Amino acid sequence: LAAGEALERLVRDVADFPEPGIVFKDITPLLADHVAFRTIVTALADAGRDADGRPVVDKVVGMEARGFILAAPVALALGVGFVPVRKAGKLPGETHAVAYALEYGEAVLEVHRDAIGVGERVLVIDDVLATGGTARATADLVAACGATVAAMAFLMELSFLPGRAAVGDVPMTTLAVV
Ligand code: IMP
Repeated sequence: LAAGEALERLVRDVADFPEPGIVFKDITPLLADHVAFRTIVTALADAGRDADGRPVVDKVVGMEARGFILAAPVALALGVGFVPVRKAGKLPGETHAVAYALEYGEAVLEVHRDAIGVGERVLVIDDVLATGGTARATADLVAACGATVAAMAFLMELSFLPGRAAVGDVPMTTLAVV
């Protein structure tokens, strides 16, 4: 089962969620299929490897909440640490914070200041790239730690939104354009 086929078969479109007019990409059927889940984790982890398959990142960052589910197994697959980027007020330690606009709403994201070392290379993982606001804010948090975004990888990129342009000049992998 290829990653694109797994996404095609097992991601469910939910109309008018969480608001009228939004078609929500629901990945829970994919997560419930362990073969498909493993396939997409393996494909995402490839974004953090060189041509010989060696890991080239020091940390994998996932954004609350679906990004956590994907980034944690990707980190283990690569043999590097996982770092959560969370919504405001959830992390107990000293944080960097960035305000950002969502496809629906607005929010603040935070990361622990000591979670990513100066000069480290980071792979950023999330489920859906929509406007790119979340990815952009996460890249800003990585930069605030003095680290570099080596690559970003997403399950899906929404074709009708300029997410890729919003994020800028970072190597970006999406397993499907939907
Ligand atoms: P962006 O900041 O507009 O690019 O939105 C991306 C963020 O919103 C990601 O963290 C996604 O998890 C979430 N998101 C946006 N649209 C969807 C969707 O259709 N399905 C699942 N998550 C979505």
